[in-house]
Amino acid sequence: MNFSFAVLKTDAAGARRGRLTTPHGIIETPAFMPVGTQAAVKSLRNEALEELGAQIILGNTYHLYLRPGHQLVRKLGGLHRFMSWDRAILTDSGGYQVFSLSELRKVTDEGVRFRSHLDGAEHLLTPEKAAEIQLALGSDIAMVLDECIETPAPRQTAEAALERTTAWAKRARRYFLECARQNGRLSQWQFGIVQGATFPDLRRLSAQQLVELDFPGYAVGGLAVGEPHEVTCEMTAQATELLPREKPRYLMGVGRPEQIADYVALGIDMMDCVLPTRAARHACIYTSQGRVLIRNARYAQDPSPLDPECRCSVCQRYTRAYLRHLFAAGELTAAILATHHNVHFYLDFMRQIREAIEFGNLAKFSSEVQARYAAGPA
Ligand SMILES: [Zn+2]
Repeated sequence: MNFSFAVLKTDAAGARRGRLTTPHGIIETPAFMPVGTQAAVKSLRNEALEELGAQIILGNTYHLYLRPGHQLVRKLGGLHRFMSWDRAILTDSGGYQVFSLSELRKVTDEGVRFRSHLDGAEHLLTPEKAAEIQLALGSDIAMVLDECIETPAPRQTAEAALERTTAWAKRARRYFLECARQNGRLSQWQFGIVQGATFPDLRRLSAQQLVELDFPGYAVGGLAVGEPHEVTCEMTAQATELLPREKPRYLMGVGRPEQIADYVALGIDMMDCVLPTRAARHACIYTSQGRVLIRNARYAQDPSPLDPECRCSVCQRYTRAYLRHLFAAGELTAAILATHHNVHFYLDFMRQIREAIEFGNLAKFSSEVQARYAAGPA
């Protein structure tokens, strides 16, 4: 058993400084996980991710199942070996992408039937299948299949999705534990996912039902999909209040720099988001002074680094004027440099958050970040 989680310190508000241990290394929490959708963090080499200090990345089950296929990945030694990444990997269940990307999906109690967005082939994703694919990929942390619905949702729809999510979580847990028993070892941690849309009582009910299944960790899903930030926070709080204190909590698909400390204060330990990598490809640079839209004409002759306070290798070497030129010229290097800096910004931001929790000044850190982001770059 190479998995463990320890809360090292909890501050007055409830923010946790923790440490997650996996067979592929230690993850200091609160942690941000860069998204490596198709076994690659877009426009970054793994060498760069290592240099940046990423301790865990996320892979998407839906994409890897359709291409290159989980059996091929297993044959080539699992996802870590396939993509030459020795540090930790979390895989999602594929549910979110099935609900957002695929065509002609039909949800039944059995699972979700869908057509691939690549070639139109029909597939059936069940709770057992999602667990099987992730076991084949060999990620360190696997997620159960949940039913994702659009928000805001009518109460009846949210209730039905919650009921199905719990039933699927039971099946996924049973299948996973049976596989572990047959293999004689636990090669992976499986997390449950709290749903319940924007209904506080459904969020609590979902958390209670999942806690009974005794997962080693829990995610809060279906949030930050368009609802106001206050609602995201309230729904997260409803869940985290009921989740076991000694287990890791993962808020899926967040967040913006000025919001991250709020989630951490609610007791969230892990987060993932495409924001730093996607924004980088669209010339949006995250800096200590706020967002810099580097295509803006005001940077055409700017000899300063992307962020004067940043210690990343891009900021040590290149200017805003040069990066603006690369984007204007459509050079691939533009995305590579911008992504490198943005991922550094996020990972360094999490280091500062962990330090703030240790020194008991997370609230002060958070209000300073919010003020800077509201003011924008000088
Ligand atoms: Zn930088």
